[in-house]
Amino acid sequence: MIRSMRDDIDTVLIDRARLGARIADLGSEITRDLQALHPDPGQIVLLPVLTGAMFFAADLIREIPLKIRVEYVSVTSYPGTATQSRGPRLRIPLPENLGGKHVVIVDDILDSGQTLSLLLDLISRQAPASIRVCVLLHKIKKQETSPPLKADYVGFEIPDAFVVGFGLDYDDYYRNLPEIVTLKRSLLDGSGSP
Ligand code: 5GP
Ligand code: MG
Repeated sequence: MIRSMRDDIDTVLIDRARLGARIADLGSEITRDLQALHPDPGQIVLLPVLTGAMFFAADLIREIPLKIRVEYVSVTSYPGTATQSRGPRLRIPLPENLGGKHVVIVDDILDSGQTLSLLLDLISRQAPASIRVCVLLHKIKKQETSPPLKADYVGFEIPDAFVVGFGLDYDDYYRNLPEIVTLKRSLLDGSGSP
C-alpha cells in the first residue's frame, strides 16, 4: 500500500481554511488595484510560476472576477531532494507577448528572491505596462544577507523552514497536501525512516 502523506507531517503551519480565506482577500485586493488602472480588455495577464504556484494560482484566479488572460512560466530551483536553492532556471521559454500588458506574477514562495529577480529582469525587457508580484508565502530569515525583493501581495509570512504542500514539493511529492506543513526531520536529512 502507498504510505499516507499524513505520516510524514511534522507541523501544520497553515490549514486549508486559513489558506482559502487569505486567498479570497488577496483576490479582492488585486481586483481593486487592477480596476484602478482602467485597463483595456485583454491588457491584464496573470503569470503563475509553475509548478509550485499552480494550486495557489488556480484558487486566486477564481477570486478575481475580471476579464483577464492567463499565461505561465516554468522555473526550477530545487532539483530532486534539494532543500536549498541551486539557482533558478527557466524550463520553457517565457511568453513573448507581454509588451504593453499589466502583468501579475504569481509564485508560491519568496525566499532568496532569485526566482522573482530573474523573472522581473526578463519580463521587463518586453516593456510591459506594469509588473506586480503576488506570493502565497514569504520566508522570513533571522539574518537577511541582501535586501529582499518586495512582493506587492503576500499571503503569509512564515519562519525560515522548508515547507511543502499546496503546490510546494519535496522530491516532487506532497504538492497535493491541502495545507502548508513542515516534514519530519528524519525524512529530509535521510537519517533513517520516519
Ligand atoms: P527563491 O528563488 O526566492 O530563493 O526561491 C523561490 C523558489 O524556491 C520557490 O518558487 C520554490 O519553488 C522554491 N522554494 C523556496 N523555499 C521553499 C520551501 O520551503 N519549500 C519548497 N518546497 N520550495 C521552496
Ligand atoms: Mg517555484
